[in-house]
Amino acid sequence: MSRLVLKSPAEIEIMHQANMILRRTLAALRTRIVPGVSTGEIDGFVEKCIREAGGEPAFKGYPHPSGGAPFPGTACVSVNDEIVHGVPSETRELRTGDIVSVDMGVLYKGYYGDSAETYAVGEVDEQSRELLEATRESLQRGIDAARVGNRVSDIGHAVQTHVEAHGFSVVREFVGHGIGASLHEDPQVPNFGSPGRRERLVEGMVLAIEPMVNIGAPDVMLSADDGWTARTRDGSRSAHFEVCVAITKKGPQILGEPVEG
Ligand code: MG
Ligand code: MG
Repeated sequence: MSRLVLKSPAEIEIMHQANMILRRTLAALRTRIVPGVSTGEIDGFVEKCIREAGGEPAFKGYPHPSGGAPFPGTACVSVNDEIVHGVPSETRELRTGDIVSVDMGVLYKGYYGDSAETYAVGEVDEQSRELLEATRESLQRGIDAARVGNRVSDIGHAVQTHVEAHGFSVVREFVGHGIGASLHEDPQVPNFGSPGRRERLVEGMVLAIEPMVNIGAPDVMLSADDGWTARTRDGSRSAHFEVCVAITKKGPQILGEPVEG
């Protein structure tokens, strides 16, 4: 993690454009994620969208935190009990009833964007639908708390409160983060905790807020196969939504929005 860096309105405008590339790509995936599509095809589509928009994939070649092979894909594509960092594969086909999280990063004009959404593949069971809706809404609650004068932990508290009211759990091992000319900056933005703690939110901060929510227990395990994929220890399903938010005097500004579907 690098230090906390505040952004000027001009920098926030570039980050808005960077994130718009991702929000448009995520919106375009809504009609493309259907039974029979492979996670590798999703990755190929995301890479094409990012490059055609003049961006560079930010995750491709990302160094492994403990010295393993760098991340091979443009997108992290995580299916069902996979939480984050799923490695895309041409031979992994999605089936009706799956849920799939697609997380993507871009480098554009010197600044990063980072965004994720979880999709239902065809018809999914009711609990999975509830998981997606509760996770999406918990992100909105977190965004609503991202206001000048609040503290970082107010965001996580809002997320956790909403998630647990639905009987689901929040992942602790992975957290949101500051973002700018580096993909991961200070402060860390946990999705849990007591209100009124950690750094005070000030104008010019840009935060990637990204709840990861499990149907069952919050515990995480790392896949031994690829060294990247993090999944739930109890095998329950997990969802992930992420946006970048600028802290402004007028309130939280979701970068890359509005977007036409
Ligand atoms: Mg991300
Ligand atoms: Mg992120």
